[in-house]
Amino acid sequence: MMNESSSPERRIFSAKERFGGELVILGHHYQKDDVIRFADTVGDSLQLARAAAANKSAKYIVFCGVHFMAETAAILARPGQTVLLPESDALCPLAEKADRLLVEDAWSQLEGCMSPERDVMPITYINSEADLKAFCGTHGGSVCTSSNARKILEWARDRRPRTLFFPDQHLGRNCGVRMGIPLERMPLWDPREPLGGNSREELLGAQIILWKGWCYVHQRFLPTHIIDARRRYPGIRVWVHLECTQEVVRLADDAGSTTDILRMVDAAPPGTKWAIGTEENLVNRLARAHPEQEIHLLSPSPNNCITMNKTTVESLARVTDGLLRGELVNPIHVPEVVAGPASVALQRMLEASG
Ligand code: SF4
Repeated sequence: MMNESSSPERRIFSAKERFGGELVILGHHYQKDDVIRFADTVGDSLQLARAAAANKSAKYIVFCGVHFMAETAAILARPGQTVLLPESDALCPLAEKADRLLVEDAWSQLEGCMSPERDVMPITYINSEADLKAFCGTHGGSVCTSSNARKILEWARDRRPRTLFFPDQHLGRNCGVRMGIPLERMPLWDPREPLGGNSREELLGAQIILWKGWCYVHQRFLPTHIIDARRRYPGIRVWVHLECTQEVVRLADDAGSTTDILRMVDAAPPGTKWAIGTEENLVNRLARAHPEQEIHLLSPSPNNCITMNKTTVESLARVTDGLLRGELVNPIHVPEVVAGPASVALQRMLEASG
């Protein structure tokens, strides 16, 4: 049995050896390298949650990411699987921009203008807590990821005349523009204002009502960063995440999800130059994996997510030490009353996005 005075690295390896296939460590792309090297699977939040549920031998799923990701994994987990989060206070600041009370208040204010159950489809980005996914499940709506957001917004448009999209305004707006929706038909809902700061007429004319939320990591990229990159590196291709602002997405060569950028860089010929507007750990790792290409972070460093970076080798070792002692450290439990409707919304997403 490994002594807890051994290095955290050795203790994690010892737990991996002891539990074999019963222990699965998942690492989100934005995690630091010294954490990611312990991950059995690396991916985005949905890929990881699905990978965990598909792994029949996994009993303990340690999710190196933020809280909503571990919750999603817990909702999709099989009976007998336990999801553990190394840092219990690793919360996503974007996910925290909307909560159930605020969204229910918006829904009841919309009832003064229209019949939301008939006229408004609630769609939540996967970067949200479980009770918002449950809200969508209960009210006919769905979840989306940055990879399938446009598809899910089209799914919503085919069913109800308006969509209430939360919590990331930029992802919703960028997809809405790609769907041909004029900006004036995508009003912003500010939860601190009556009617979200809109007139009744603006809401009745809306096609997508965007929640006033944002990811501070992606909102930091500015048009000046793109202009500067093109000046410094002639011929560079600028790629940004769909959580960046509309102005930045409009100026970039392309935009998409984390998975999209990984695919594009993998497929690009040697010598391709990139300026990438997303989280720094991922961009640095991509640059190391593709020395045949020239890969830059779009803005000056640092540009990483503070809460993602809360997970350390030490906090991961605390969880694996617990397993070796027969204790569950930071297990994620989603009550059935929330998990049931949340999984309905997740299932709708999986069916609609194929
Ligand atoms: S990068 Fe943005 S969206 Fe992702 S966890 Fe951090 S704050 Fe949340």
